[in-house]
Amino acid sequence: MVEGGVKMKEIIEKFDLEKVIEEFESLTQDAENVQKETLKRILEGNASAEYLQSLGLNGRTDPESFKACVPLVTYKDLEPYINRIVDGDFSPILTGKPITDVSLSSGTSQGKQKYIPWNDELFETTVKIYQTSFVFRNKEFPIQNGKALSFIYSSKLSQTKGGVTAGTATTNVFRNPGFKHAMNAFKSDSVSPDEVIFSPDFHQSLYCHLLCGLFFREEVSLISSTFAHSLVYAFRTFEQVWEELVFDIREGVLSNRVTHPSIRTAMSKLLKPNPELANLIHKKCIGLSDWYGLIPELFPNVKYVLGIMTGSMEHYLKKLRHYAGEVPLLTSEYGASEGWIASNVNPKVAPEFATYVVLPQIAYFEFIPLKQLDGTKVELEPVGLTHVKIGEDYEIVLTNPAGLYRYRLGDAVKVIGFHKSAPEIKFLCRSNLMLTINIDKNTENDLQISVETSSKMLAEEKMEVIDYTSYIDLSNDPGHYVIFWEISGEASDAVLYECCTCLDKSFVDAGYVSSRKVKGIGALELRLVRKGTFQKILEHYVGLGVAVSQFKTPRCVAPTNTKVLQILLENVVENYFSSAYN
Ligand code: AMP
Repeated sequence: MVEGGVKMKEIIEKFDLEKVIEEFESLTQDAENVQKETLKRILEGNASAEYLQSLGLNGRTDPESFKACVPLVTYKDLEPYINRIVDGDFSPILTGKPITDVSLSSGTSQGKQKYIPWNDELFETTVKIYQTSFVFRNKEFPIQNGKALSFIYSSKLSQTKGGVTAGTATTNVFRNPGFKHAMNAFKSDSVSPDEVIFSPDFHQSLYCHLLCGLFFREEVSLISSTFAHSLVYAFRTFEQVWEELVFDIREGVLSNRVTHPSIRTAMSKLLKPNPELANLIHKKCIGLSDWYGLIPELFPNVKYVLGIMTGSMEHYLKKLRHYAGEVPLLTSEYGASEGWIASNVNPKVAPEFATYVVLPQIAYFEFIPLKQLDGTKVELEPVGLTHVKIGEDYEIVLTNPAGLYRYRLGDAVKVIGFHKSAPEIKFLCRSNLMLTINIDKNTENDLQISVETSSKMLAEEKMEVIDYTSYIDLSNDPGHYVIFWEISGEASDAVLYECCTCLDKSFVDAGYVSSRKVKGIGALELRLVRKGTFQKILEHYVGLGVAVSQFKTPRCVAPTNTKVLQILLENVVENYFSSAYN
């Protein structure tokens, strides 16, 4: 790590914007060869791994031999190998060099966290992808000097019983010595001290991020988080604690809500009584109407708001736009704990229409075509990165330098175009099929469209859906979809009943509609949950070691996810059944 760290520091600090663009253009031009080279590099580096040896590659590194010998796998297939690593077997199992760190994936989809091997090569790909996104962003929205108000939180680090360090992927990135150099080079140094980012309590951390942001308000040139959820969460919290923040600034003391000694010490170095600033912030806050334009009002030099804003994060865009006013919202990159995939090189495009260009040097990619033939979903043989077709949907398969070979990520994407010969993709959804009872097939994306359409009725009443999820209820025959909503304000039964029927009607999948018509699927049910229910879900995941930075509300709760289901069910205050197909 030390040697690698020094090398990385040089790479990061000496990076030249034009060179990064040139490199990107040349790599995407020659994507097919770059992919072959990437595969070769990965296979050569890990030739001694037991897993690869057992598959009979015998030193071959070409894509054809690779595909012939190595099977497509899911996490479940690799779990026995990963468990041995986690239990302290340091022999070359999946990689040539032993794995000493693992990332805990958020596990929000299945309710079960996964251990993903982590190594320095993955950090290097992180820097690569950040660099690429940064240079394109900086061309459109230049930042000369400044700081970032970054709502980032590290998760707790733990040691497995085998002595392997486990943290979330974002934590593994933040704690790498190269991270600070990278943020500095990208003019995205956090306004908050490290103690705030690495605080064991995210509520305290968030309060201090806000306080630091206000202290350095003139210097804040961008506001960011890994996922948009954390941005909205932060400003919703601001609405509740702003007077306390103003008090702290006026008096130069830190609220008692921050108890952790290391944060108190770090913050005390920054805090000085500043009645002038306190008065200014107070005046600005009371002058806002329903907090519209809060971000530019508080941070006059902010150029943009940055974070992953596509996929399940799209729901938060409306609220974020409300806070951001005219300040542009930029979606950042596309990746997973398993590895980075693609960069946003057209930052001016609104997140709803954003695409990401796959970087051919960061992993070896394959794409499983997802097709419907005669109403049945069929999976065809995977194709290579440069052989995907515009307009088609695929599941991503990746081979990374940290021991995942032909690993099915479970994300569905659509190919929108090409940048030179590298595909430009749009994220579709986490798993292609999510809500299904019989012949119906609705994805995370379909659910989002349905929620968006029906919540317009709430918007007319000046209310909004704070968060949502879904569940398949099979306790009665026929089974039916249940959608859980937490809303702001108090909507009338009549409005909610209309929303419920609209939710049902907005699932337009032919299998769903026909099943609803013949009562093969029961009426959709909207269950309203108490305020703060989704906060409880977030806290449940944080308790499991998920970093708030990586949190994603599960959009469909599997029956095995008993704790989340219990939280939801205990907090239902009303329920409505749709009359769409009566
Ligand atoms: P994690 O399991 O915490 O590593 O989260 C990774 C998952 O987050 C990916 O597999 C995607 O489903 C989702 N994700 C990451 N980046 C994006 C993006 N740019 N747009 C939509 N979803 C994303």
